Amino acid sequence: RQNRPIRIRIRAQTPNVNNDNDGFVLEDVPHLTNFLPDLPSYPNPLQNSKAYAIVRQTFVHPEDVVAQKVVVQKDSPRGVHFRRAGPREKVYFKSEEVRACIVTCGGLCPGINTVIREIVCGLNVMYGVDDILGIEGGYRGFYSKNTMSLTPKVVNDIHKRGGTFLRTSRGGHDTHKIVDNIQDRGINQVYIIGGDGTQKGAALISKEVEKRGLQVAVAGIPKTIDNDIAVIDKSFGFDTAVEEAQRAINAAHVEVESVENGVGIVKLMGRYSGFIAMHATLASRDVDCCLIPENPFYLEGPGGLFEFVEERLKENGHIVIVLAEGAGQEYVAQDLHQVDERDASGNRLLLDVGLWLSHKIKDHFTNFKKMAINMKYIDPTYMIRAIPSNASDNIYCTLLAHSAVHGAMAGYTGFTVGPVNSRHAYIPIARVTETQNIVKLTNRMWARLLASTNQPSFLNSDEGIPEKVDQEPIEVMNILDRFCGCPPYMV
Ligand code: ATP
Ligand code: MG
Repeated sequence: RQNRPIRIRIRAQTPNVNNDNDGFVLEDVPHLTNFLPDLPSYPNPLQNSKAYAIVRQTFVHPEDVVAQKVVVQKDSPRGVHFRRAGPREKVYFKSEEVRACIVTCGGLCPGINTVIREIVCGLNVMYGVDDILGIEGGYRGFYSKNTMSLTPKVVNDIHKRGGTFLRTSRGGHDTHKIVDNIQDRGINQVYIIGGDGTQKGAALISKEVEKRGLQVAVAGIPKTIDNDIAVIDKSFGFDTAVEEAQRAINAAHVEVESVENGVGIVKLMGRYSGFIAMHATLASRDVDCCLIPENPFYLEGPGGLFEFVEERLKENGHIVIVLAEGAGQEYVAQDLHQVDERDASGNRLLLDVGLWLSHKIKDHFTNFKKMAINMKYIDPTYMIRAIPSNASDNIYCTLLAHSAVHGAMAGYTGFTVGPVNSRHAYIPIARVTETQNIVKLTNRMWARLLASTNQPSFLNSDEGIPEKVDQEPIEVMNILDRFCGCPPYMV
């Protein structure tokens, strides 16, 4: 440990931006030697690999960090940094002693199978590991289901399929039972693929492993189709989802263009953030109005949705509305007098805002305006979630999986992987679960969308931007802005 000087500064300890360290903050991830200081290290077997002969010169220096801020103004703090991902010269596991396992939890997202495949192939091809277990059916699979042995041959084709080869579930996280099982099976590397809930579970497993003093590396690979994971540039499956959403929007457009007073509504994913709806709208140009959870909308009165629909019907004879599933939830719940319902993991079940809006618009025009409209409602959610990832997501998934493998082999634990400003980094799990990315209405990307659709902003000038949006601390959209149209994952 003495050989690995690590400067750790916790954010809360650096409130003064002009400190002697230029406000440099490193949010480091735990290393096995933090609680097992006598652990021996070994030369990275990649040094002997033919394919990686060149890597000898390009191992990531253990002190290399990635900056979260792209632009630092004069005298402003340098801000938060994360340890750079990639292969290290020294590893903390002998290849023949590694027993790895992979588990997938939560909802489906394009690319999960690519991540599984690349963890297996990465461990095997780069590090010579051949003892890899697949935990079936999510967290509960650790203690209630069988495991399967994963080899490059078994996973060879799985990236061509949607879903998860290992199957998934919600609920059933029991930290003690899971860690008992990890211990009983002699597992020393745990790869956990899943969303915010899954990553919270991974953090608990990592803490319990540390408490018991086990030489077990816990690596999380963040999964969310909604792109709402904090810190990282973009989540895998997002590109694929935006691309596939085009087909649904196109279908809605074709339908409504072909009839009189056609109103097309397409509901896309996005429980708390409207990234998919926003990007799909910007990509399509056939969308007249985009509704997202961050931008509360209203139906009646001046500047309301009914007025806008009427205008567009008079102007063009049709209208296409794209909405995120989480848009207007409070509004719908109030209107339908619904009570809160939860799934097995404790997540609030959303009401079908698309169906509700279809009925509202139909009712308004038929009964109030005495105007016949043709309503077409499309919900492609399950079709989008179930497809395999596209080319750009496939490459991105490979990088995520390899970063996780390099990190675990290097002895890091309790970390998640992901690109920060286009460089892959190891991020403490808590950092990606403590907040969620949302679309900032004050950001230029939303302004571009408003300029593109010319839809109402639904903001009363007296009210301004809703407060919760202003409080969002992470400048994610700046990153997405920069990379719009260009994959932000290249190392
Ligand atoms: P997504 O929301 O994208 O579908 P997710 O990972 O958030 O993915 P969840 O169903 O919320 O999906 O959680 C997946 C797993 O993580 C479940 O097995 C659940 O028991 C566990 N989990 C969820 N929240 C927590 C938590 N706070 N602590 C420990 N485990 C959790
Ligand atoms: Mg979740």
